Amino acid sequence: MKSGNHEISEIHPGIFRIPLPLPGDKPDHVNAYLFKGKHPLLFDTGMNRTFPDLCAAFKHLNMEFSDLGQIILSHGHFDHYGAAASILKHAGKPIPVLAHPDAVLMLAKGNGLGLTQNELLQFLKQTGLPLWLRIPVVLIAHVFNTFAGKIKTDVFMAKGDTLLAGDYPCQLIETPGHCKGLVCLYLPGQHLFFSSDHILPYLPHSDPFLFHFNGIKERFNQIEFFESLGRVADLKPCRIFPGHGDEIQDMDNVIRRYRTEYKKKDEKIIRALVHGPCSVYEIVKKIFPKVLNVRMGFPIYIALSEVYTHLQVLVRDSRVSRDDRNRVIRYLIHPDH
Ligand SMILES: [Zn+2]
Repeated sequence: MKSGNHEISEIHPGIFRIPLPLPGDKPDHVNAYLFKGKHPLLFDTGMNRTFPDLCAAFKHLNMEFSDLGQIILSHGHFDHYGAAASILKHAGKPIPVLAHPDAVLMLAKGNGLGLTQNELLQFLKQTGLPLWLRIPVVLIAHVFNTFAGKIKTDVFMAKGDTLLAGDYPCQLIETPGHCKGLVCLYLPGQHLFFSSDHILPYLPHSDPFLFHFNGIKERFNQIEFFESLGRVADLKPCRIFPGHGDEIQDMDNVIRRYRTEYKKKDEKIIRALVHGPCSVYEIVKKIFPKVLNVRMGFPIYIALSEVYTHLQVLVRDSRVSRDDRNRVIRYLIHPDH
């Protein structure tokens, strides 16, 4: 049976991939994974708007929401948890919802981007993004908020927790980086890894779905991301099932590409600073000019957050200096470089 443009498939005995449509053409769907068997478990849910598609998929797989023993939400982005509130409402009985403690607040607030409006505005101001371009970003954040129902998680995960997913022992793996509070599932006996947005099969030119800003506490998402990648590589999974797209079998290759692209982007940012100090927005204008021409809120936000998270590391490594004296932060090549 098809869900959106993609087939529901049994990827391993008793484990089903349910692709659910998303707005826009990239990525065109998000994957929820259903583990049938003795301990039925759903990993991610899609948006609240595609709840009817999820209902149809459950029907096709002879499952009721009330059969679920638990739901795991990989992280606080609308496309992964948006339908959880509707599932609980329709199940007619309480179902434990698990999430990482760092994701709990985002899930409870129902913020599609994982940021409050104040955090978003503060970020946009300090990047120097002009007001007329801030509007589409704030608007899209509002739209995303409507794609997810607020959800209270009642069970929190701890590092190394194991549980039963369907008929398989399963480990929860913390993989912050793409955002805080991101968790993946690993089935050690089968060497299957469910990577959510941590490892994706494609690498869009600006990695638009990889990272997001969390500057308030000055976390280093890029550093966390590569540390998390290292931890996954150590597990040596044979098959990876991502949150978007098809199965990945060449994980080493994907990780290599991530590392090369990261370095290339660092160099582009440094080159953008050769002629003098720039704000994050001015750097985006130089290295992702197309993103600004299209004037779509989400790509602008992603480009800004990506440049910002690269700069955080460049500043930490003393390759770039940061001038905080004004409201718009400006960056310049470190005098020793
Ligand atoms: Zn995400």
